[in-house]
Amino acid sequence: MTGLCDTCKHQKLVPNTRGSVFSMCERSKTDPRYPKYPRLPVKQCPGYVSVSR
Ligand code: SF4
Repeated sequence: MTGLCDTCKHQKLVPNTRGSVFSMCERSKTDPRYPKYPRLPVKQCPGYVSVSR
């Protein structure tokens, strides 16, 4: 649903009060090059780190 972010270690899924879930990039906390809520789907990302879930 979010492209690369779905399988990235740095993704955090954040639910809001209306029942939607946003894909937040935790890299944004330490690196200003990454938006907090990246425009989806993310097709290419230099900060991508694969995780299995
Ligand atoms: S580092 Fe890239 S792929 Fe990973 S969550 Fe952030 S924007 Fe998505």
